[in-house]
Amino acid sequence: MHRFFIEEPYSDTMRVVGGDAKHISKVLRMQPGDELQVVSDDGITALAKVVAIDADSVTVECIEKIAELHEPRVKIVLAQGLAKGEKMDFIVQKAVELGATSIVPVAMEHSVVRLDGAKAAKKVERWQKIAEAAAKQSKRDIIPEVQNLQSMKELLATNGCTTKIIAYECEDRMSLKEALQAAEQNLPGGICDLLLIIGPEGGISPQELELARQAGAVPVSLGKRILRAETAGLVAMSAIFYETGDLG
Ligand code: SAH
Repeated sequence: MHRFFIEEPYSDTMRVVGGDAKHISKVLRMQPGDELQVVSDDGITALAKVVAIDADSVTVECIEKIAELHEPRVKIVLAQGLAKGEKMDFIVQKAVELGATSIVPVAMEHSVVRLDGAKAAKKVERWQKIAEAAAKQSKRDIIPEVQNLQSMKELLATNGCTTKIIAYECEDRMSLKEALQAAEQNLPGGICDLLLIIGPEGGISPQELELARQAGAVPVSLGKRILRAETAGLVAMSAIFYETGDLG
């Protein structure tokens, strides 16, 4: 069943507006009486039916709230070193499908791409749209936020996750599995949120690694092969969700 996000709090009657309203009426050609799922901006998912279709909005009436949860127990914030070209589009889309709660593009020392203020804001807007489409497609209960472009310093100063992991291509002692098991044991109630830092194509600089270490991030290996920037985050997220029991 199709799922739409609504920009208002839950109530018995709500309105879908903008591109989604057009999608319902013009592309899906839904009619009054047809059923769909809606997620209000206070996070409530409901089965609803179309009651009216206007030029720029679709009014829906909620039939019942749906208690099904699609969110993982461990909230992952993926901090991704800015990668080239369309790689970031791919990373954002896949990270949202897998279950990331938020994505932070990080301008790292070895990032080949440099984005200034206006360009960065435009890119973030684009990635947010990609996140929204992926959230709908994968039936997430939230739209993950793509945060503003930051430096490693800014990221570490503002991020409040209790577990922090940095995938470091030169790490040969600590595995991701060991780091996760240690965090699960040491935290009362286990891991609840996790900052996952992944480098760009050029890798993580020694200074960035040191900053991350000082902020409490554990450098981990993702195995014996070097993964590309657009692969590493997805592999690490899959492994984290597997290890924390979220992949079924
Ligand atoms: N240019 C670097 C590779 C960068 S890979 C080199 O040739 O060594 C991009 C990012 O993916 C890395 O910064 C790291 O965060 C992650 N990564 C890739 N393979 C990894 C591995 N085997 N272990 C840990 N992290 C890895």
